[in-house]
Amino acid sequence: MNASAMRTAVVEAARAMNAAGLNAGRSGNVSARTEEGILITPSAVPYHELAPDDLPLLSPSGEVLREGSARPSTEWRMHTGILAARPEVGAVVHAHPVHATALACLHREIPPFHYMVALAGGNSIRCSGYAPFGTAELAHLALDALEGRTACLLANHGILALGPDPGAALELGVEIETLAHQYLTALQAGDPVLLTEEQMAQVHEQFRGYGR
Ligand SMILES: [Zn+2]
Repeated sequence: MNASAMRTAVVEAARAMNAAGLNAGRSGNVSARTEEGILITPSAVPYHELAPDDLPLLSPSGEVLREGSARPSTEWRMHTGILAARPEVGAVVHAHPVHATALACLHREIPPFHYMVALAGGNSIRCSGYAPFGTAELAHLALDALEGRTACLLANHGILALGPDPGAALELGVEIETLAHQYLTALQAGDPVLLTEEQMAQVHEQFRGYGR
């Protein structure tokens, strides 16, 4: 994807985030790597008004290389930190969906209660420790929770989902919120039966076969 196509993909993912119920209002943000630098959604611009040229372009360390229509998202440290530390990742989606955020407020991870937990790369979707929004400390805690994974919960805050491009990261974010909804619903009825390591190993094997 060239830089111009990536601008469009970031805007589409930001808009789709609200349409998919991952976010309400202006919270949440999307970033993507391009050859020129890191594109990120600006802060305080409603996504339905967002245009591709509104996206600021950042260096890997967060300097503004090209201005957008507003300052970069307050979470730029988290986005640039992840993209710098994880060269295989092309895009990051951050959102505050209701069910996943509810679990994050309990500091509970999503255990292997459902085989789709394997989509995020491991046998759980971890919850990070708490740090205030926008801080370098939060960026570090997020990276810890993402070790070996492509998604995590952020304590008392929301979620992160990573992917090769903004559309794939968004799709994973929707899966995480669905899993969180299912897990919370199951918890209300009893103790969900967790899959064993062996059962999860088989799922990872099958996912590899499907190229997921
Ligand atoms: Zn947030």
